Amino acid sequence: MANGFYSAVTLAAAFVSACSTPLADSGSGARLDLVVADGRIDLVAAKPIVLDDAPRAGAPAPTDLAWSFVAAKGKVLARGAVGDPRLVHVERQPDEEPVPQGDLRAGAGAIQIEIPDVAGTVRIEDSAGTLLGTLEHAPLRGDAFDAGLDDSKSDINFQTDLIGKPVLVSAAAPETANPINLLFVPEGYRESELARFHSDVAATVATLSQTDGYLEHWGEINIWYQDIRSKSSGISDPARGIVRDTAFNITFGDGKTLPRKCLMPSKKWDAKSVSNLQRLATLTNADTMLVLANATERGGCSNFSAGFIVLSAAPEFNPGEGLAHELGHALFALGDEYSAVGSTSCDAAAPNLTDNLDAIPWADLIAPETEIPTSTSVGSGVVGAFEGAGYCETGVYRPEANCRMRSPGPTFCAVCRREIERTFARRATAVRRATITNRTGADFWMQCDGRTGTAVCTGWTRVAAGASRELAMSGGRLIIDTTTIAGAPVRWSQVRVDAPSAAFSIFANSDDPLSPAGE
Ligand SMILES: [Zn+2]
Repeated sequence: MANGFYSAVTLAAAFVSACSTPLADSGSGARLDLVVADGRIDLVAAKPIVLDDAPRAGAPAPTDLAWSFVAAKGKVLARGAVGDPRLVHVERQPDEEPVPQGDLRAGAGAIQIEIPDVAGTVRIEDSAGTLLGTLEHAPLRGDAFDAGLDDSKSDINFQTDLIGKPVLVSAAAPETANPINLLFVPEGYRESELARFHSDVAATVATLSQTDGYLEHWGEINIWYQDIRSKSSGISDPARGIVRDTAFNITFGDGKTLPRKCLMPSKKWDAKSVSNLQRLATLTNADTMLVLANATERGGCSNFSAGFIVLSAAPEFNPGEGLAHELGHALFALGDEYSAVGSTSCDAAAPNLTDNLDAIPWADLIAPETEIPTSTSVGSGVVGAFEGAGYCETGVYRPEANCRMRSPGPTFCAVCRREIERTFARRATAVRRATITNRTGADFWMQCDGRTGTAVCTGWTRVAAGASRELAMSGGRLIIDTTTIAGAPVRWSQVRVDAPSAAFSIFANSDDPLSPAGE
């Protein structure tokens, strides 16, 4: 987007949907947070789990990394695929030197895998079969390991660096059933500077509260902040030789693997920082984490699969304006409507984008007399199909001439606005806890579609044939999966279903899992 803001999107959900296919079936397991870099794998955290509740899913995509877990005698105990977390997507930067469009490869990234808790070796290969690294695993035997708890450089200590509890600075109306929770955390603010962090949050929130789309639903949003001290003031800037010791190790890009104005956790400590951000998110059940960086110039970057947005607090950057666009991605799944000269890496997978004029998702909003494709000469406010969107000048279409998802300044277009309204309406009526009965005739797995591992969003849960289990769903939606169950009457892989009521059944019907087959 504009406003000096980048989006770095890991192409598959590294922390959300690492797929695994344990071949040794049940018992104690370990969930590993790893840094993957060329030539090495670092262990960040390891947590004991019951492996029986792990997801069994999915065919690897071409950009995936393949991992395996091998016992001493060479037997493969588990294997799976995970999106390559080193791939990031860079958005347009109008007032800086041109940057490469499409996918960039950072030096390292963070993934999460699940393995049986026995001695063995984790091996990770890229899609071409090149070995990236190996890691020896010693059984946890019930003890969690967390490198993020030590007090070394580039890390926060949860006991001493967090100050107080999360503070609610703007509260949703009490009658709101399922408010959006946004959590601000400070990056590069010393303890003595936290009052300025509070005023930087207030300025950003004031802008957002007056922005169309948010203004009308302000009573359905909770805004929180958590005070966290950094040892240094400001953030690191490798291209200029500046090193700071900060809470989340956010740095300017090095200008090589990532553009300088893309603010992201330093690649060396990526997984620690991402793990710590995710742990903080559970404090407030945050839908999205907003890392406010104490920088004196504009910049930002987003990692939507890990659920956080980094914003420079520099006032001339107007972080509230940037946030309104980035939350369009994070909360409402809107796509970028701008294009770049010469780009061939298009993206039309969003409700406000299409590459098919015969099946425009917003066709019902187009007046009969409007020509398709639509010329920008019709002026603003007309809904049609305007060529040039999703990073490409041709072949992808947007709903209006202008929109907040195309450039800063205009309001959201009618189609983006409808998606925003739909999201709030869905949240208002979402079934947040349900008892789900398995009538498929075979076991399946289910989980909440959201940030799992909290009281309001249950992680992977196995439901035996004929059994019922309860599931908490913060967004009212669940994911079902059957992919490795032999004999399953229907094979699902990460199928999403909106919970219709507080008690319902799942049937073996690939068209509609909520209805018996044939109805
Ligand atoms: Zn964008």
